[in-house]
Amino acid sequence: MTHRWLVWPWTQGLPLIRNWLAITFGDTTISWRPLTIREMAHELAHSEQWRDLGLLFPACYLWASIRAVRRGGSWYTDNLYEREARAAAEDA
Ligand SMILES: [Zn+2]
Repeated sequence: MTHRWLVWPWTQGLPLIRNWLAITFGDTTISWRPLTIREMAHELAHSEQWRDLGLLFPACYLWASIRAVRRGGSWYTDNLYEREARAAAEDA
């Protein structure tokens, strides 16, 4: 499957998520600067999560964030899907 990488510098200032770099929707990643190999591996892992879960992915991601916070963690770094993507990046 082809992955689409969009580098849109003008999106850097958008208040999507604090300190955001890239976001993946299905097979498309948008970032405000070119990504490193590891950053690309991280986003490709999210793309696989989209492929596995389809349109349920945003709801699953949100639920994983709620679970992480309820356990006293961070909605982002302790989110199951982010942990999976970080592990993929470490292997890259
Ligand atoms: Zn991520």
